[in-house]
Amino acid sequence: MGKSSKDKRDIYYRLAKEQGWRARSAFKLLQIQETFNIFRDVKMVVDLCAAPGSWSQVLSRQLYSEADRECASTAKIVAVDLQLMTPIEGVIQLQGDITDPRTAEQVIGYFDGQRADLVVCDGAPDVIGLVDIDEYIQHQLVMASLDISTRILKTGGTMVAKVFRGPKIAMLTTLLSQFFGKVTIAKPKCSRDSSLEAFAVCEQYTPPIDFTGRVQDFLAPMIPDLLSKLASLKPVPFVACGGEEAYDADRTYPLTLKEGEEYQHHAPVQPPIHPPYELAQKMRKEGKLASQNTG
Ligand code: SAM
Repeated sequence: MGKSSKDKRDIYYRLAKEQGWRARSAFKLLQIQETFNIFRDVKMVVDLCAAPGSWSQVLSRQLYSEADRECASTAKIVAVDLQLMTPIEGVIQLQGDITDPRTAEQVIGYFDGQRADLVVCDGAPDVIGLVDIDEYIQHQLVMASLDISTRILKTGGTMVAKVFRGPKIAMLTTLLSQFFGKVTIAKPKCSRDSSLEAFAVCEQYTPPIDFTGRVQDFLAPMIPDLLSKLASLKPVPFVACGGEEAYDADRTYPLTLKEGEEYQHHAPVQPPIHPPYELAQKMRKEGKLASQNTG
């Protein structure tokens, strides 16, 4: 088995299949919840960059639980992604680009004038391996998430967004701090050490008094001043999250986790529904594409 495939099939990959999550990412949100209690009193949620849907699954299990019927009757989850997603009961799905202002309009439309309690964004671009460029594109997704949050999040609400711990992280957290009372960078235990990803947990949404309009327009004039002060700004806390007992994503565990228990294979919960090679496959079946020459 090659290095990359070994890396991907860790303990969380297995647990995701066993517990019925569409992706191991589910554990990232669960571990963030464990440390920050972000689901407290939450009924209205926007899940940005949601495919294949494991965060939406976590949210729907939380919001539509039998135990809290009152919440279940009024809850709303709107999930957005560039990719198609297999439906999840109780989750409104929207196919769109979160950096396109029309997407925000559509999300707002689903909320019928109500405000969201929580906006989460696990957006990841196709990384190219050049840290500066990957970080720049990733931060565009964070900014898009912030832009949508300013239009839909209630005062006091929470935004959680995936960030890259690259050279510009201090600048990004400083910008986020203009809109949130508390910003923390969290690294769930299920996120591999080798990965630059972390999550900005932004609590207590408090838009600046003079904020109207678009985030980028508001922040752009502040940037030169912030850049000059960056070295003297207080760094935001960085915390590991997930309980003491949480598995380490970088360790290898035996197949049988509990003594005497037999390991059972579980098929993936959601195989890709529209992979990029789908059209080629269809054409091959119809005899419109020559067989690959592997010689
Ligand atoms: N949270 C998801 C889950 O639990 O299943 C996993 C998200 S996956 C790591 C990253 C997603 O970001 C991909 O599905 C990708 O299509 C989406 N994405 C990247 N750029 C986007 C954009 N501009 N607009 C919407 N979705 C985007």
